[in-house]
Amino acid sequence: KPTRLLILAGGRSDEHEISIISARSVLEAATTVPNLDATGLVVTREGRWLSPQESQKALAEGSARHGGEPALHSAHVVTEYDVVFPLMHGPFGEDGTVQGMLELAGVPYVGCGVLASALCMDKTMTKEVLRANNIPQVRHFAFTRQAYANDPAHIINEAKRLRAPWFVKPANLGSSVGVSRATDDVQLKVAIEEALRYDRRALVEEEVLDVRELEVAILGNDAPKVSPVGEITHNGDFYDYPTKYTDGRSQRHIPTDAPHAVCEKIQELALRAYQILDCAGFARVDFFYAAETGQIFLNELNTIPGFTPFSMYPKLWESGGISYGELIQQLIDLALERHQSRR
Ligand code: ATP
Ligand code: MG
Ligand code: MG
Ligand code: MG
Repeated sequence: KPTRLLILAGGRSDEHEISIISARSVLEAATTVPNLDATGLVVTREGRWLSPQESQKALAEGSARHGGEPALHSAHVVTEYDVVFPLMHGPFGEDGTVQGMLELAGVPYVGCGVLASALCMDKTMTKEVLRANNIPQVRHFAFTRQAYANDPAHIINEAKRLRAPWFVKPANLGSSVGVSRATDDVQLKVAIEEALRYDRRALVEEEVLDVRELEVAILGNDAPKVSPVGEITHNGDFYDYPTKYTDGRSQRHIPTDAPHAVCEKIQELALRAYQILDCAGFARVDFFYAAETGQIFLNELNTIPGFTPFSMYPKLWESGGISYGELIQQLIDLALERHQSRR
């Protein structure tokens, strides 16, 4: 009997379309995986669930805004499958909410559980856990919308104890949405207010000077494997939303030509962070490397990384000797294994 796989795609985040492109690739590759029967289900930008039939059209069109049923009306459909792949990015996809629903339904699913998903989505909480475990990260200051509203000057003064320039980010988002770079007080204020539009909590970080952006893929549950290290270069001010999602504005280098010792250190730190945060299945771990000083900082773990055949995560494994189809098979096996081991 073939394994019935349900891929959840789209969703409420700004990465809705990216998610659908990833899902289409997985659906296509799934036809080459023996004994696998894959179905796509699209969640609209409003968070409603289309039926598998309606999803066909949305998958072909590349996005879905309206229609569908409230998630909790439709969610029982997941019990008709052997494994679910929640391939949605950002809030309500990558943050443990869908994962919690799948736990309640008792269905095995690809990737991290509730705790790791929630911790990795939240930049301030990721940093708290990394700090407690002496994993190097950039200096930062976190605050709430309420604290800023009560005393903006105080928040700005606290942020200014960090060396300029700064990066300001909402605590719980991805795709560089709400992220800005600031070089003076005026920009800092604007950047903080921008980040707080997207989230109740935000953070300011010191910029890593002469930064190189290195990324590594992890695959596994209790005995995770690490891929070669890749590098992203781009011609933007930083790796912002338009740079990320416009063809030709960024390049992947796999493997990177960064020094061997740096790559080894990154692989070791990525594996440690993955295990400390109780990740499962897969994650892409992103680093900043300050080429001038040789310092390495862990920036973040993405627990639902981009998954088109051209995305960094599958490309890193391809260079590590695992094809796209094989990767899908391994993720399914890991989902089933994790489900079994938790019973
Ligand atoms: P993702 O799409 O990878 O989930 P994100 O929205 O979580 O992204 P970050 O990865 O934290 O946001 O930041 C986006 C980009 O901004 C980085 O890839 C990098 O180019 C730049 N950046 C962020 N923080 C710093 C920093 N402290 N120093 C230098 N550059 C930074
Ligand atoms: Mg992120
Ligand atoms: Mg992300
Ligand atoms: Mg990032």
